[in-house]
Amino acid sequence: MADAQLKTLFTEEELSKRIKEMGQEITLDYKDKAEPVVIISILKGALPFTADLMRAIEVPVELEVLVASSYGGGTETSGKVEFKYHSFKDLSGKHVILVDDIIDSGYTLEAIGRTMADYNPLSVAYCTCLSNTARRESDLQVNYNGFDISNKFVVGYGLDYDQKYRDLSFVGYLEGDEA
Ligand code: 5GP
Ligand code: MG
Repeated sequence: MADAQLKTLFTEEELSKRIKEMGQEITLDYKDKAEPVVIISILKGALPFTADLMRAIEVPVELEVLVASSYGGGTETSGKVEFKYHSFKDLSGKHVILVDDIIDSGYTLEAIGRTMADYNPLSVAYCTCLSNTARRESDLQVNYNGFDISNKFVVGYGLDYDQKYRDLSFVGYLEGDEA
């Protein structure tokens, strides 16, 4: 990995174009809702994606953030995650859109969704920038996804490897690493 070369998978322009389309999709789905819409950004990885997505949505959205305790990626499907930090209290009467950088096995997002129910949202939708469909194990259906990828460990645009690469404007992968 130390000698691995960083390759581009999705350029800044490709990300921007797709996120504008996603914003349009979400706008259409929520424009007739009378209740508030809240985006909950799952930190840290979803931060750049959330910032771009919320500005591509043409209905007013509230913004909250969530830091979930790292989920072991085990095969337990009934588990909940602990929220290490969350900026919201009660979500009664609000439509929630959970925003994450990538869905892989799906267990993290599934568990977050389950814990989210404790806050009584009116509805919960799932939105990811990337989806590693080849690695999916959970039955969770994502409502909005930017790009499908398969069997690549990606970095950039919020995604890290050992806290590095989050600041890249594009999504890349480290060649020689097919993990
Ligand atoms: P899941 O529970 O869906 O398997 O894992 C989701 C989380 O694992 C993501 O929110 C992300 O933090 C991390 N993750 C999964 N795949 C990748 C990847 O290819 N690159 C990076 N940097 N993180 C990933
Ligand atoms: Mg994450």
